[in-house]
Amino acid sequence: MKRLLLTLVLLISLVSCKKEAEEKTKPVEVKKPEPVIIEFGFKLNDYDVVQDTIVSGDTFGSILEKQNLGDKKVHEIADRVRDSFNLRNIRIGKPYTMLRTKDASKKLQVFIYQADIANYYVVDFRDSVHAYKKQKPITLKRRTIATEISGSLSETLSKAGVNASMAQNLADIYAYSVDFFKIQKGDKFAVTFTEKYINDTIFAGVESLEASFFEYKGKKIYAFPFKQDTTSRKVDYYDEEGKVLKNMFLKAPLKFGYRISSKFSTRRFHPVQQRFKAHNGTDYAAAHGTPIVTTASGVVERTGYTAGNGNYVKVKHNSTYSTQYLHMSKILVRRGQRVSQGDVIGKVGSTGLATGPHVCYRFWKNGVQVDALRQKLPNSEPMNAKFKPRFMAEMAPLKKELDSIAAIKFKK
Ligand SMILES: [Zn+2]
Repeated sequence: MKRLLLTLVLLISLVSCKKEAEEKTKPVEVKKPEPVIIEFGFKLNDYDVVQDTIVSGDTFGSILEKQNLGDKKVHEIADRVRDSFNLRNIRIGKPYTMLRTKDASKKLQVFIYQADIANYYVVDFRDSVHAYKKQKPITLKRRTIATEISGSLSETLSKAGVNASMAQNLADIYAYSVDFFKIQKGDKFAVTFTEKYINDTIFAGVESLEASFFEYKGKKIYAFPFKQDTTSRKVDYYDEEGKVLKNMFLKAPLKFGYRISSKFSTRRFHPVQQRFKAHNGTDYAAAHGTPIVTTASGVVERTGYTAGNGNYVKVKHNSTYSTQYLHMSKILVRRGQRVSQGDVIGKVGSTGLATGPHVCYRFWKNGVQVDALRQKLPNSEPMNAKFKPRFMAEMAPLKKELDSIAAIKFKK
């Protein structure tokens, strides 16, 4: 009672002060209204807001039990919302918000669970309990950037104001054409892409990449996504001529001027040893000194000489695949060296057990030698000629746009 009186006295004196101020025509200080905060479609100002994070052991039920829900039974609530909100989907670390009445009862009115950056679930307790899922408004921003490499790819992107996740996109597209360990100052790239934003401000990832080029060692490699089958989800990347970009392995370890002289076989008559034995490789006959290239990028696992293999190089591509090249006249790489697809690693010869100059190409899968020509490899689909006109029509304006922006940027 005493406190109430005191409050009254204070209020009266405040009001009288205000009156005096007005009478003296001094500038009146208007108290700024509290900014209205709208989130999840609720005016947060109207509630006692509790924001928290799901921790180990939390369940929807256990969170609710700590709230003053009146006569509403927790298990009944769970039953009612089951169809629109799977309660078992509550994950540790995800944020949730509770809107409670501002009065002393602090009665729970609304429970909001944020499944991810854009999606949230609302359980509304105010009248009849009901739940629904909503998505924050998403906007797409289309951008083209053109920039020169300085530092790593992600450092370069960050300097250009692009989220580092783009580095992974580019690395995937150019996995078999650019060695990102070897990119250096002077290399350039340009990329047109759309970014997803929530509420216009919160970055939510790269939505799509529309066009790009990477100028690597002075050579421009374009990449345009294209779906041969418009109903499928599969997107492959093609260059400006419609050639597929991503092939883990080249067809052969020689670029030209070769013929296959002997195929992989479990039983063949060995021309030198004059007996039947397995041939664990594919022989490519070519002129002495023809450059031998690694069919995929990787690290040189071994180089050396044996009586059978002659001079050889073995390249490890990943945990599954290695390739080996035999009978070289000259080895041009050393152990531990990183090589890119198509790099020259040696020269054709006839060292070891060989009747004439050729390279015996051996293909290892999970430590076992298999027939390279029969492998289903993680390669992209070459473009079917009937889709090429559609590809060229879609690609041309994108390339023009990319080139013109790059031309302005790199002129400086
Ligand atoms: Zn052979």
